Order: sequence, then structure tokens, then C-alpha cells
Amino acid sequence: MTDEEFREKYGRDPVKPGQHTQVKVYWDRIAIALVLLILLIFGIVKGIMAIAGAIKGSDDSSSVTEAAAAAEEDDLSQAEPEVKEPQQYQFIVCLDPGHGGEDGGATDSTGKRWEKDDTFNMCNKVKEYLEAKGVTVAMTRDTDVLLSLEEICVNANNSKADLFVSIHRNSAEKRFKGVEIWVNNHEPEADTLLASNILTALDRVGINENRNVNYGFIGEPQSNYQVNRQTHMPSCLVELGFITNDKDNELLDKNFDAYAEGIADAVIKTAKELGIVAEDGSRLHEGQYLSTKPQWDPETDTYHTENGDTVFADAIDPNAEDKNLKREDITTTTAAEAIPPEDDAQAADDGTVG
Ligand SMILES: [Zn+2]
Repeated sequence: MTDEEFREKYGRDPVKPGQHTQVKVYWDRIAIALVLLILLIFGIVKGIMAIAGAIKGSDDSSSVTEAAAAAEEDDLSQAEPEVKEPQQYQFIVCLDPGHGGEDGGATDSTGKRWEKDDTFNMCNKVKEYLEAKGVTVAMTRDTDVLLSLEEICVNANNSKADLFVSIHRNSAEKRFKGVEIWVNNHEPEADTLLASNILTALDRVGINENRNVNYGFIGEPQSNYQVNRQTHMPSCLVELGFITNDKDNELLDKNFDAYAEGIADAVIKTAKELGIVAEDGSRLHEGQYLSTKPQWDPETDTYHTENGDTVFADAIDPNAEDKNLKREDITTTTAAEAIPPEDDAQAADDGTVG
């Protein structure tokens, strides 16, 4: 059969003799080739990883401008650039837990809860937060003792504290509720700032009612709480809710830590805003920071205004009952609105209640 005929019959070329040569398999060469192939793949993978790393690295370094741009964007959106939390704030704050010892302050309807304990516990918690953030804290009492209000003020002044915060609980009929803060009736700016920063912080956590920053003494615009009168530094007296109001007590217990942290943060914020310390916590103000309220001279028991005028404190000492009556009178408006602070007369101890 010719090749032609074969193709016609079988549809393919005929296999000629000698075409079926046996293929020799070089197993050794295949093995070497395989090893080389594996090495090649390994090398390629390593190479790709190295290149990827290099690209990422160059991204990091070349993106300094990008990072700066991003930071700038952050600045624009957040207004305040992020600052690393300082290790230390170089200022002193004096905390005053109201009442103590045989003076329990106000009490709730059960007679089991006492103002002196609430104020003491809160001041200790605030102290804890402040010290954790590197602030020096002086306490007017660190045990359950009663100090005279004059002693408290003298000790605070001697501690060279830059700020002073007295903490009390309010008391009145059950329907009264909320937080109010008292400042010297000369409306000193720094004292007002301290008070409003604290009130804002507490309000943000959640309070029953915001009863504002008030000046002088309730119902006695010419008077001041003694701690706002005889302390030399910016001061305020926080009435941390009514101990006579169940909801206020509930809020205090529930928000205890958050209130303390809020007060601590407000104190630090105030020290920065007054220029006592810089953002990094370093001291800016030379010597103890003084309020612009009339400065008390314990030797002569007189008060001197910024322009050298001497003002005298009168001897009004409102008692708790008066205080509650006066509270009734002012509840239709806020105390700050109802009491136009005006003259130089200074007076009034913090009553034993409230
Ligand atoms: Zn009190």
C-alpha cells in the first residue's frame, strides 16, 4: 500500500519502520530541572516580597508631605492639634471637702446620708484623677475632722495653691434639684472661669438641673461664702446637687467617677486657660496665682481691692433656715439674675448646712 492509499484508508500518515524509536528518559536531568524550577519560583517570590517592602518603605518616607497634609486637614477639622498628655502639670490645686467631724453638714430624708461624707469621698476621687495626671493637690482635710472656715482659708493660702475648689451638697425642700456653683460677688474673671468650666463638665456628664454660676451668697448679694472671701486664689464653691433630692443623690452615685473626672479635667483646663501652665504642663505663671477679688489680710482682717481700696467684711452669718427661705424667693429667676452683685461689703460664713 502506498502512503497515499494508507492515508485514504486510515486518515493518517503511515508509521515508517525506525520511526518508533524508544525515548530515553533522563530522570537525573528532570530532577535537576525541577530543583532549579523550585529555586527559581522561590527566588521570584522573595524578589516580589522585597520589592513590595521597598515600595511600602518608600511610601512611608515619601509620605511625610502627605502626613503633614493629613495632619493639617485634622487640624482644620478638629481645631485643636493633638498634644501628648504631659507627665506633670506644674500647679497646685486645693480641694476642700465641706464640713467634717461633728459638723455633718446637711442630711437626706433617711438621716443616714451626710454631706460631709459625700464631699470627702468626691474630693478624694478628684484628687486621685488630678494626681494621676501629675497635678499637685492640697486637701483642707484628709480625715473626718472639723476645721474652722478661717483655718481652711489660711491653710489654703499657705499651701500656695493656684486654684481652690470647695465641694458641698445643697439642701432645701425635696423639689429643689440640680447643681449650682458660687463665686465671689466681685465677679472675678478667673474664679468665674473655674466655676463655669466645672459646671460645663458636670452638665456634660448629666445633672438634674443646671442652676448656673452665681455670685455672692444666696439671698445676700453683698455677702460671700467665707471660702470665696478669704482665699487669695481663684475659688468657687460647688453645690454638687441637693442631698435632699433623691434623684440628685441617685445621679451622684451613678456618675460619681465621671463627675470626679469632669471636675479634675475642668481644673486642668482652667490652669491652662489662665496661663498658669502651658499645654505641656510646664509652669508659666511666676509665684502663686492670685484672684482679682479683694485680697484678705488675716493680720488686720481687712480686704483690699486691686486699686488699693480697703473694704470691710460685715458680720452677717446666715443660718440654714434663712438660706432655705431665701432660696424660695429666688427660684422664679436664676440666682445670678436675681442678685445684682454690686458693692464692696463682704460677709457671711458658709452656713453650717448646705
Ligand atoms: Zn455645705
